[in-house]
Amino acid sequence: MTAQLSVTGLNKNFGGVQAVCNVSFDLHAGERLALIGPNGAGKSTCFNLIGGQLMPDGGNVVLKGRSLGSLRPDQRYLQGLGRTFQIGSVFSSMTLEENLLTVIAAAEGLGPSFTQSVARKHQSQAQSLLTAVGLSDLRQRQSAELAYGDVKRLELAMALAGNPSVLLMDEPTAGMAPGERHDLMTLVVAIAAERQISLLFTEHDMDIVFDHAERILVLDHGHVIAEGTPSQVRADPRVRQVYLGE
Ligand code: ADP
Ligand code: MG
Repeated sequence: MTAQLSVTGLNKNFGGVQAVCNVSFDLHAGERLALIGPNGAGKSTCFNLIGGQLMPDGGNVVLKGRSLGSLRPDQRYLQGLGRTFQIGSVFSSMTLEENLLTVIAAAEGLGPSFTQSVARKHQSQAQSLLTAVGLSDLRQRQSAELAYGDVKRLELAMALAGNPSVLLMDEPTAGMAPGERHDLMTLVVAIAAERQISLLFTEHDMDIVFDHAERILVLDHGHVIAEGTPSQVRADPRVRQVYLGE
């Protein structure tokens, strides 16, 4: 199997707190990998180190064979690393379509070559992304008016606008009702399969993790304490003790 994303020996210390300690893993092509662990385990820090929002004290992140080194988040996005955040990142004063047009233009790094035909192409890309996430009817709405679950869908569409080969999702269903959560994850999984996107996500709802992840990595106090299929992880005594509170 080819690794789309390869993380080696990641370390991050915040003023004496070792938030991430020697974390290594591969994310394979088309795979769905969940990163789980109790609150404060280091999940978001791992995402920020991979996404470039934070720089590691040590270790390396390789995307499709290319070391990301000190690239900024926007440069990583252009390399095919998409992400959504635990806290929203939508421009609420814009319509849904404007939000998408903004990221589509940014993803193409538009210069003086902007023409009517480019604008039309972007509009149709925006439309097909909104359709893919089930928001095409709301194209002209102000994003501030959206229901919470629809904001999450818009964020997904925005992450997809860069044609990512790897998509990072930090608690994509946080704050949603249980039924809505399953619907969103089912949509994410279908889109990832259709677009051959490898998915790395965090999620505190274990039902969702066990239903939607193919492989699970368990973090505790910054360390990887277990790794395996959902059934392997579920049966791991250390995981049950540390994470499931047994
Ligand atoms: P998780 O996402 O698994 O809940 P985090 O990665 O957010 O965990 O946090 C891991 C640890 O690092 C926690 O102890 C948290 O308090 C600490 N931490 C995270 N971000 C910062 C920061 N910017 N400054 C200081 N400490 C931080
Ligand atoms: Mg977090």
